[in-house]
Amino acid sequence: MKGLAVALLLAMPAFAQERRDPRVEALVRRIDAARLEATVKRLTEFGTRHTLSGTQAPGRGIVPAREWLAAEFSAIAKGSRLKPFEDRFTAQPDGKRIPSAVEIVNVGVILPGSDSARSKQAIVMTAHYDSMPSDVMDPKADAPGAIDDASGTAMALELANALKDESPALTVYLVAVAGEEQGLIGSQHLARRLKSEGVEVVAMASVDIAGNSEGQDGVRDATVARLFSEGTPETESEAQKKLRLAVGNENDSAAREWARYVQRTGELYVPSLRLRVILRRDRIARGSDHMSFAREGFPALRLSEARENYRGQHQTPRTENGVRFGDELWRFDAAYAARMCRALGAAIASLSFAPPPPQEVTLAGAVSPDAKLRWKLSPDARIAEVILYRRPADGVVWERAQSLGKVTEVTLPSVTTDDWFFAVATADAAGNQSIPQAPSVVGR
Ligand SMILES: [Zn+2]
Repeated sequence: MKGLAVALLLAMPAFAQERRDPRVEALVRRIDAARLEATVKRLTEFGTRHTLSGTQAPGRGIVPAREWLAAEFSAIAKGSRLKPFEDRFTAQPDGKRIPSAVEIVNVGVILPGSDSARSKQAIVMTAHYDSMPSDVMDPKADAPGAIDDASGTAMALELANALKDESPALTVYLVAVAGEEQGLIGSQHLARRLKSEGVEVVAMASVDIAGNSEGQDGVRDATVARLFSEGTPETESEAQKKLRLAVGNENDSAAREWARYVQRTGELYVPSLRLRVILRRDRIARGSDHMSFAREGFPALRLSEARENYRGQHQTPRTENGVRFGDELWRFDAAYAARMCRALGAAIASLSFAPPPPQEVTLAGAVSPDAKLRWKLSPDARIAEVILYRRPADGVVWERAQSLGKVTEVTLPSVTTDDWFFAVATADAAGNQSIPQAPSVVGR
């Protein structure tokens, strides 16, 4: 058995085993560009969704906006497997961007997982529905926030609609959070709450600024998006540090594996979109809600557009010398946003359907001409095969994926461990894969 896996290894083409699950294809098809645009338009009509804006007039401010969102999530959830979700708290003055106590409400849905052995594991997607004008402390000025971040918020609703009747193994949270512009306050509360409830978030995605396709330089690109994730975890333990220094796995953190997973799965189901795995936690010196989850030790990434226009971000709408500023609806490219939503939806769905990943992956073969890997498999009967991923040690994304069959070890003759990175994933019969697991143990 082992010998067979070895013999086939170099003969098979890269990614030969990747199959599309018709279930995932169907839910990807349910994601609708026109509905995304209608949601973004509706959200801009609240005038401002500044976290401190309350209700400024009927239909204006963050309170009517969140009431509308809650009603939309509830309407989608009705008669489906979804359960409405609310995370409500009072943020206290912090001497920074919260001048006085304010109620913050994260609102969304939960799709309960069916795997009782993993009942506390979850996948979380967030977007922030709050917005800001030029002055982050001004709750009164217009702040339509079409791209930042009605675009992501619309995707949360759209994914709820696409997933509502599915029965995934893992629980999925789709949540519109507030307080992002005031310091990631809503997502921080949500991440800490889930942690305190014993929920193990195995993968988290913040979709933030994901719908503008024309950069400030005038270059238009609606076919590429970016995935930001941390390399070395912010919460790195001493043991993790020791392993990192021994094997140089700073590009193989759980967050980075999740980013590569979204890239690979997203492109498999949405060939018209290319996803770039950016080797940064976020854009330089900027942030989003995935960082709140990373700080709690959860693998998290940010999905964002490829070409930003800073005249649209954090700008009160106005025209200066013929140049339009402001985050208004006309900037939103619904077809582009739909591609990103479909790609992320495919990754979330496929992971939620997939069996549990290999455990205790051990890499051996240092100071030897052969690489050897072994791992443990859960007794879950849905595990149909194990996929070995590898990339050269100067590569960013996996270059080769190989089905090994249902085995718990492999030997790669004449493969020098120093020159390659490896990971192993499980897959079900439909091709849904776990996140590849990099070796956590270096042994003999
Ligand atoms: Zn944002």
